[in-house]
Amino acid sequence: MFKKKRYLRQNKRMKSVVFATLTFMFSMLLACSSDAENPNGGEETETEVDRTGNLLSTGASANDILSNARFDRLLIEIAFVEGFRPSPVTMNAFEEFLRENTFKQNIELTYKELPPTGEESLTLTQIDSLEQANRTAYNTGSTLAIYIFFADAPSDGDDLEEGLVTLGAVFRNTSMVIYERTVRTLANRSLSLLISDVETATLNHEFGHLFGLVNLGTVPINDHEDPDAPFHCSENPCLMRAELQFGTSGKAFVQRKHANDVHSSCSLNGLNLIQTMENRVARGIAAAPGLDPECLRDLESNGGRPSTNN
Ligand SMILES: [Zn+2]
Ligand SMILES: [Zn+2]
Repeated sequence: MFKKKRYLRQNKRMKSVVFATLTFMFSMLLACSSDAENPNGGEETETEVDRTGNLLSTGASANDILSNARFDRLLIEIAFVEGFRPSPVTMNAFEEFLRENTFKQNIELTYKELPPTGEESLTLTQIDSLEQANRTAYNTGSTLAIYIFFADAPSDGDDLEEGLVTLGAVFRNTSMVIYERTVRTLANRSLSLLISDVETATLNHEFGHLFGLVNLGTVPINDHEDPDAPFHCSENPCLMRAELQFGTSGKAFVQRKHANDVHSSCSLNGLNLIQTMENRVARGIAAAPGLDPECLRDLESNGGRPSTNN
């Protein structure tokens, strides 16, 4: 009985110690969070992040991505909506694509899961706002940061009946979006293609634009820019080929540009891409075409790694 009483008393004391500790910790927490909310404190952290190097036009950082002259480390923030994370097969192929074409050896991919956007479709302006709210990776020191958003909604203006299905877009020097819901929808409708096939082709094609292809920051050695589709390659086969881009989306692209809105230098058309890839698989070759010798030559001339097949 006595033992039990002592135990109870000790227990009570313990409880009050724990309570006091918790109260202290909680008030510390409040103090910290009110510090963070303090306008001066908060803004100080904000101004420490210099975003200017990540707000340039698409292709403006081609040389910085390809060579190690200014930046020798690549930090790629992969932001994906819950349930729309790209497959490991895709990300391995993507990393290989970067190592093959650039001198970057120090490459880090970080993943950030985001809640659903709650939108039925997304405009590039909305995608831009989401990036500004969620992006944490910006250039610092010799690290070049890139942000890729895997969206849970299709691109605004998509119309499957009209053959306009957008898989991905680029809108700044270190920013791109992959419409992952659309990628999966199209891949699941195909009998011969895997999700990772469509993801890889889309991701690498869009990244080709960040490399400055074609004539988008990397000057072509020989003229191979498609006169009907700016920033795309006229060689066949090539990952940067125009037929992978436009269905009826050429019109949408021009309109977006004239609206002085956030615009994409590429709106990768899903149906054309799927057809090209299905034909290739039927012929027993790799689903996605690689970069052709002209594109590879351009990359090398702008500081990229010389191609082993060239
Ligand atoms: Zn493109
Ligand atoms: Zn090409």
